[in-house]
Formats: sequence, structure tokens, C-alpha cells
Amino acid sequence: MKLNLKDTFNKALPADPIRENYVRQVPNAAFSYVTPKTPGNPSLIHVSPQMLEAVGLTDQDAKSEEFVKIFSGAEIYPGTKPYAMCYGGHQFGNWAGQLGDGRAINLFEVNQNNRQWALQLKGAGKTPYSRGADGLAVLRSSIREYLCSEAMFHLGVPTTRALSLVLTGDEVLRDMFYNGNAELEKGAIVCRAAPSFVRFGNFQIFSWRQDLENLKKLADYTIQNFYPHLGAPEKETYIALFREVTEKTLRLMIEWERVGFVHGVMNTDNMSILGLTIDYGPYGWLENYDPNWTPNTTDAGQKRYRYGNQATIGVWNLMQLGNALYPLVEDAEPLEEILENYQTDYLPKHLGMMSGKLGLKETSNADFIAELEKLMYQTEMDLTILFRNLSEFDENDAEGFWTKLKEASYSENLEKFKPQWTQVLANYAQKLRAENSEKTERAAAMNRVNPKYVLRNYMAQLAIDAADAGDYSIVDELFNLLLKPYDEQPAAEKWYAKRPDWAKEKAGCSMLSCSS
Ligand code: AMP
Ligand code: MG
Repeated sequence: MKLNLKDTFNKALPADPIRENYVRQVPNAAFSYVTPKTPGNPSLIHVSPQMLEAVGLTDQDAKSEEFVKIFSGAEIYPGTKPYAMCYGGHQFGNWAGQLGDGRAINLFEVNQNNRQWALQLKGAGKTPYSRGADGLAVLRSSIREYLCSEAMFHLGVPTTRALSLVLTGDEVLRDMFYNGNAELEKGAIVCRAAPSFVRFGNFQIFSWRQDLENLKKLADYTIQNFYPHLGAPEKETYIALFREVTEKTLRLMIEWERVGFVHGVMNTDNMSILGLTIDYGPYGWLENYDPNWTPNTTDAGQKRYRYGNQATIGVWNLMQLGNALYPLVEDAEPLEEILENYQTDYLPKHLGMMSGKLGLKETSNADFIAELEKLMYQTEMDLTILFRNLSEFDENDAEGFWTKLKEASYSENLEKFKPQWTQVLANYAQKLRAENSEKTERAAAMNRVNPKYVLRNYMAQLAIDAADAGDYSIVDELFNLLLKPYDEQPAAEKWYAKRPDWAKEKAGCSMLSCSS
């Protein structure tokens, strides 16, 4: 196994001088060297062929013993020194101080085909940032992260990636619902990959500690490596960095809305400086359209991170990043202006995205979209099925769409809303006729933004239940299905279906806790 190593983060930023692995505050440093825990009996469950190639490895490499050893933490790749990053964050709106990689360990960075990849193990044991926890990850949450990161990429949504999923051979004690019923579960490790895992929280921790020297180093590192077009570091460049991160974050929020993704834990330590979806925990996919829905039981009361609030939280989080960067800029006005732009840009971007889903060339007016969204909510429309079916809508036969509409609804009261739907569909038909769009072309365009398949919560759960019993066939089946989420896949039509009734209240399908 030969990798083109090219470390950057640990070269540009200072290391914690303490090498022992015990929980502590780590001032004046960006990371701490750690050694992954030796797994009991590691075995490979799955690899992503695309990521394998991306990082410069072959199928042959993936079959080697060395591969399992390196990507389970059993062995350290020659010439590398694993480390955990130090970061802080706001959790559920409150400043939490130092958090850091409590169960992520960065192995190394590679540069392959001029692309930079940092590789990190999630669940490879304790670090100085583990606080009271064990640094491990269970199979169920690892499958969810593994499948979803790759699925998101193929949906076209910015995300961290996943290279491999391994079973550690060890057991992990978890109290899934924090109700005193802890059980032993299988331990697993995902090797995830991204150009960088730097989060808003990495900036926040330096700023909070008034460590301006390292704050500047981190900002300069980020600009030089990931935003090089912004130029030499100076006040204007830091403002430009904030502007680009803001734009990327807004784009991400709109993309999550488009595919019906709810992150579940949008704390500032889970916000990527590259605008990537990061840290797949108690996330979920909208089935019946409900802006108030969150899959995260830990957030069930406040619902801070509900589907319809993600864009608002995005800007709240950006404000924290702006505060963290302030000492480098020393002028609040340009930072505030950038945040204001996010807020004014949101609605037109949301409408543009929704219009695209409807196959409209012109961005629709807000009233029409709001009316449609209201009805989708009232009649419990499955977001994925409704929009995929809409590609078959005939503007000269709006009435004929009723069966397709019924197919997408979870509601027993759909008939009651027939007059409202008739009106909305008539308005829609009128818009399409006014645009004179060609039906086949329109359907093709719609099917490029409306996925046929997403990783519904119950699908991941089926893969998990089978995997717990040692059968990884559904993991593999879903992995392959989600490589082409916009394609018709006749053999996989069974996955183009509404959530089955059994999944409505089942743990892991509609409700998830942070326990993972
Ligand atoms: P999250 O909300 O899952 O992103 O995690 C918040 C913080 O808790 C991060 O600093 C994580 O590294 C840490 N954390 C979560 N789970 C564990 C665990 N099992 N062991 C150690 N640290 C953890
Ligand atoms: Mg996290």
C-alpha cells in the first residue's frame, strides 16, 4: 500500500507538547498527538471504490491485511503521526468551551491527482478531548455515517466522504435512549475523508482563549490551502474568507432543503469551514413534509435543529464564526453586512431551488411556493415521491395527476384538501404553459434535482439490523443503489416507496438520540 502523503494541518499549526493521552484543556495548540486504540479483531465490512481510487489506493490494497490494520487503527502508516484536533463550539445555542476530536483521530493527509484528502478514523478510541466518553463508535451509527456521506456526495450535496467501514471486534456499552438501559453493541470505525475537517469551532476556541497568534495562523492556513484565490492574508482577505464561507453555508442549507435532509445537531463544532455536511449523527430524511420535524430526540423539546429552521441556524452559526474572526478584522460592519446578505439571499435562493424542483425556468413567486408547501404539510406529502412523480405532470391534464398525488401522501384526509390541490395544480399548469416548456426536457431536468432514492431512515435501519446479525448485504445494496440516486433503477423499485407503517415510531427510523 503506497500513499502520497502530504500533511498540511499539523505542519502549519502548533502541536500540544504533552504526549500522554488523558483528558485535559489544551491551550496554545491546534491538535494533540494520539495513538488509536488497538482493536480486538478488526475486519473490513465495506469500502467505497470511488474513495479508494481518490486517495490513490487499489482494489488489491483494500483486500490486504495492511488496509484493515491501518484503517482500524491497529497499525500506524509508516512516517505518520495520528492526532486529534482541538476545537470548541456552541452546543444547542450555548457556548460549551473546549470540545475537540473526542472520538476522531486524524491519520494523515494525502495528495492525489492534485486533490488534498485528510483521512480520519471515527471511533478509534480516547483522546485528550474525550471528556467523559469512551472515544468509540457503534456499528449502527457507523453504518449511518458511512452510507450517508457517500449517498450525499452522489446526490450532489457538499459533504465529507467515507473510505471504509470496519468492525473492531470489540463491544461498546451504549445507553441508546439515555434511560438507564445500557447494552453492549458492536464497535465499528469509519474512515472518513475531506480536504479539511476544520470547523467553525476550531476558530472559536482560539478566539475564546484570546490566542490571536494561532487564530491568525489557522485563518492563514485555511486561506492558503482551501481559499488560495483570496490572496495574501490581510484584513480584506479575512473578510473575503468569511464571505465565501457564508455563501457556501447558505448553499449547503438550500441543498439540504432540496433533498429533505435534516442534520439534527447543527452545533458550531459540526459546521465545516468548507461548507461540507459533517458529522452524521442523529440526522434524518424528511418523509411526510413537515418543517417542524427533527429526528433528534435530544432536541425534541426545543426543536432548534428542525428542517425548517436549518437556514436560520446556519446564519446564527455564521455569526459565531464572525465573532471568532473579528479580532483579525477589527471592524464589525463588513462582517454584519455579509450576514445580512445571507438573510436577504435566502428567500430568492429557496424559491429558485423550489422552482427548479418544479421544473420551472423562471423563479416562482413566494406566494405560490408558500401555498404549495402549506398543502404538502397539511396532506403529509412524501417529499421525494411527490417531486419525482411531478416530472410526469401534464399541464393539460392537471386532474390526471390525482393518482400520483395520492401515491405520495401519508394522510387519510387527502380528499378533504382536493379543492386546494386542484387550485395549486391549476396554477402550476398555468405557469408551465406560460413558459411553453417541452415536457420530456422538463422531466429530465426535474429528475436531475429530484432524487428517486434517498437514504430513508428505515432503509438505514434495515441495513443496520441485518449487519448486527452479520449480514452486510443490505449495506452493500444501499451503497450501490445510492451511487445513482437520480437514475431510474427498475430492479430497485421497492426502495421507491413511502415509509412503511412499522417504521413510523421505531427507534432509528423516526427517532434518534445523540448516543452513537
Ligand atoms: P457531536 O455532537 O456528536 O458532534 O459531539 C460533540 C462532542 O462530543 C465532540 O467533541 C465529540 O468528539 C464528542 N464525542 C461524541 N461522542 C463521543 C464519544 N463516544 N467519545 C468521546 N467523545 C465523544
Ligand atoms: Mg461533532
